[in-house]
Amino acid sequence: MTAVPLGMPAFPRAAESAVGDPVLRGNLRHATHTIRAKRARAVAELDDWARLRAAGAAVKDRTLRHLGHYLEQLEASVTAAGGQVHWAADAAEANRIVTGLVRATGEREVVKVKSMATQEIGLNEALTAAGITAYETDLAELIVQLGDDRPSHILVPAIHRNRGEIRDIFLRTMARWGRPAPDGLTDDPAQLAEAARLHLREKFLRAKVAVSGANFMVAETGTLVVVESEGNGRMCLTLPETLISVVGLEKVVPTWRDLEVFLQLLPRSSTAERMNPYTSMWTGTTAGDGPGAFHLVLLDNGRTDALADQVGRQALRCIRCSACLNVCPVYERAGGHAYGSAYPGPIGAILTPQLRGTATALDASLPYASSLCGACYEVCPVAIDIPEVLVHLRERVVQGGAVTRQGARVTIRPAKGHAAERAAMRAARWAFQHPRALRAAERLASRTRAAHPSRLPSPGPAGAWSRGRDLPAVPAEPFRDWWQRTRGGRQEGTR
Ligand code: SF4
Repeated sequence: MTAVPLGMPAFPRAAESAVGDPVLRGNLRHATHTIRAKRARAVAELDDWARLRAAGAAVKDRTLRHLGHYLEQLEASVTAAGGQVHWAADAAEANRIVTGLVRATGEREVVKVKSMATQEIGLNEALTAAGITAYETDLAELIVQLGDDRPSHILVPAIHRNRGEIRDIFLRTMARWGRPAPDGLTDDPAQLAEAARLHLREKFLRAKVAVSGANFMVAETGTLVVVESEGNGRMCLTLPETLISVVGLEKVVPTWRDLEVFLQLLPRSSTAERMNPYTSMWTGTTAGDGPGAFHLVLLDNGRTDALADQVGRQALRCIRCSACLNVCPVYERAGGHAYGSAYPGPIGAILTPQLRGTATALDASLPYASSLCGACYEVCPVAIDIPEVLVHLRERVVQGGAVTRQGARVTIRPAKGHAAERAAMRAARWAFQHPRALRAAERLASRTRAAHPSRLPSPGPAGAWSRGRDLPAVPAEPFRDWWQRTRGGRQEGTR
């Protein structure tokens, strides 16, 4: 996977500016609360949601157990349908393949749609370095690109921007990228959408090469599927002469019957729609219809390493609906940028440290970017137990241990900066194993309570923990003394 953005600090520090920005927090709160309420209504319409959810999880688990088989079947189907399959072990290889394919067409521009995988590998930067300009065509991605910004949400990459900010971005930068924004543009959503439509139409009609992702790949026929709301994806997928799709290995499903389950789960979970307005499917190439050349770049980039982890692998079930982001109290306050990867929110907190490892301060901090409230698990349409994986990854960060990296079993060391936590946990274990010492410590704490500060001093490594917390008041009598004295409350009042 691509490296952490240069100089990116650990999550708590990276989130500081967002948490202190009232406009940003207002934008995030408004958007996430609106989407989550709509989603809840859309899901409540279906009596069999729980069974659909279990079916989705079961299909994904079965596919992951036989991933090699289904990927080979997919490759054979795509090839038989006139497409070409390329295997990319990591970001560098994927970027090399795509850059080479674009160069081979002789073009210097591509239009892009629906691809978190290309954000993950930093494809736009690689294309720029090769002298190729990539134009984002999803409306929210366009806003991010024009604003020289980074996406902060899976479904709504520009969720952190309000309408006024978007108008300003259009007026300021659209001309630099092509057709300028109309004079007198206001922040009316219809006017903003029209400005984007005119700007993008020019690109669609000119582009000879498109780069896309895919929501699903059906192994039995080699069909790729993109679901979207705007129709820009449909233009991207049909108008250019060459289509290059960069897709993570885990997006394969065995059959169309399996796809049926996800086409019900995804729209209600993501946009709260009963059905996606646009569902585009393509199978290889067809003479006189759509692109004449089709390339599928199958991206590993840490996925098979994640697959080797029996607890963590459930993150590969993810269908990128973003429901977990919209209910997460941490995401709501911190926004998406602090996660430092294409995958923000709860899914990012478990997927990124598996794809990238936990060697950097940011990646080691991601499993802690959660209150473990469990709301993400409740809404996940494929029942990923995100809290379980978070705890599992925290254990890995603190203790180190055996993991799979690039296919080989290696032992990683505990991440730096967790010595205080390890020492505290060891001390707790010792105390719980020695009840007399624990009782003596409890009595001492009760007797000295008048002298306790309301906050812990915060020097050294414990500071990050103690800075934001009050020290709870210690009762005058330890619980176990009270229990012994009153026989569990039956003789309450005795002293
Ligand atoms: S983890 Fe679940 S809820 Fe979150 S984006 Fe993936 S599928 Fe959706």
